[in-house]
Amino acid sequence: MNHFAQILQQLHRDTRACLQAVCSGHRDSISEVEAAVQAGPMQPHLQRLVDLGLVVLQDLRWEPTWLGHGVHHWNQQLLWAESTGDAELPEPRPEENGDLVVVGCEKYRPLYCRPGYCWCGMIRSDHASEAPETAAHFLAHTRQRNRREALWNRTSGRPILELYGKLFEDQLVALRQVHQKRADGISASELGKALRPRLEAGGRVLSYVDHQLGEKLLERLAELDLVLADEGSTYWYPTFDGTGVANWSDQLLGPAPRPEPRLGENGDWIAPRACGHYRALFTAPGYCWCGHSQSKHRS
Ligand SMILES: [Zn+2]
Ligand SMILES: [Zn+2]
Repeated sequence: MNHFAQILQQLHRDTRACLQAVCSGHRDSISEVEAAVQAGPMQPHLQRLVDLGLVVLQDLRWEPTWLGHGVHHWNQQLLWAESTGDAELPEPRPEENGDLVVVGCEKYRPLYCRPGYCWCGMIRSDHASEAPETAAHFLAHTRQRNRREALWNRTSGRPILELYGKLFEDQLVALRQVHQKRADGISASELGKALRPRLEAGGRVLSYVDHQLGEKLLERLAELDLVLADEGSTYWYPTFDGTGVANWSDQLLGPAPRPEPRLGENGDWIAPRACGHYRALFTAPGYCWCGHSQSKHRS
């Protein structure tokens, strides 16, 4: 038990209230303290606080001492602890009272009545022990962001035709729908609604509500990194590879022979310069899988 707790134990409830009033700024007269506490005459309680060295009378004003602030803060800590649910109650070190800054603290111990502050008087982020946690969080965020950018902007190196082979018919239809809506994104329920008539026309009875249907399809596509949700997980977009698979599945609707994409192409992306051999992309008449028009190709 810390020394503030030991002193606090000796204080009557009204004496604690009296200390709280003084620490909260009611210091100019006994009547001001009495008005704040509203528990009868405060003279005996003030005297008790003076005897214990928690309050001093200075120039006709009642001032809390270093010890007084500490006992008051510990009292507050106990009251606030009920709302935090923490198993362990953060305690002050012997040289701290929660009021003055004590440098050299390594471990953040929240002072509940001053949210964000430690018993040492410094804010949380000023603690060395908090830095790795913050750095790790930042790193995870950056990794996540880099991953998203990579999925959107670059091929993963997986051949488009091979990815195409991994999808069932309704997953392909869903991917093409996501690709069609790539400018605004599409939500799971919008996708479900868009697919429903088609699947029912195929003679299947659907018991899913729209949202669940869309979600299941998006889950599978996301597993393969073919679609990606925005940061709020509401709207879905095709990744670089997803765009390639969608374009290839459109290409298959055209007549043979069907020119194929090369590694690193998805049909939407535009290469820095035209490739050496024109390969018609049926969904974009006159254009090649490399993103350039036929006239830009020498052959
Ligand atoms: Zn600290
Ligand atoms: Zn080309």
